[in-house]
Amino acid sequence: MSLSDYRKKRNFKNTSEPAGKKKADLKQLVFIVQKHNASRMHYDFRLELDGVLKSWAVPKGPSMNPENKRLAMMVEDHPFDYKDFEGTIPKGNYGAGEVIVWDSGIYLPAGGGTDKDENEKLLRKALKKGDIKIVLLGKKLKGEFALVNMRKDEKSWLLIKKQDDYAADTDILKKNKSVISGKTIEMIQNANGRKKTKSK
Ligand code: MN
Repeated sequence: MSLSDYRKKRNFKNTSEPAGKKKADLKQLVFIVQKHNASRMHYDFRLELDGVLKSWAVPKGPSMNPENKRLAMMVEDHPFDYKDFEGTIPKGNYGAGEVIVWDSGIYLPAGGGTDKDENEKLLRKALKKGDIKIVLLGKKLKGEFALVNMRKDEKSWLLIKKQDDYAADTDILKKNKSVISGKTIEMIQNANGRKKTKSK
């Protein structure tokens, strides 16, 4: 898989986002969700696969309620080390605005085990099929989820919580702090001396 789209959109002299030189090096697959205050607030849902992060922008954010099917727009693959990126993408750059790591952990394909290669094989197949069933072991998101392609166009997917012991109708997005730094988007804005309401 290629990071050329990712690199084309960014100038690494101007943004502190990673250029993507580090290789995936963990024994298990990781997932992360970043909260991103770009032209619109959204959440970026990312799954490690084949050394990169497959990525979806989720405008309304993930939900623990199986009744909430959340639109997830597939975007360009991101480098593996993007999983640790948090901070501010400067004005004038692609995706300008604040980013926090809202959740992170390891994940497995449904029916997967401890063998990373086997898990990736299952996930590659599921991705191709447009029906990815996974188990998340995050700090906020836990249990079974599905990402289902909507067919009408290949970039539109739905992120859906499956019914299990972790399903709940409480609003998980109220937990609004970074799992890395404990910061909120607002705290990063304030540290930058920015106003809460974004001026264009
Ligand atoms: Mn984003």
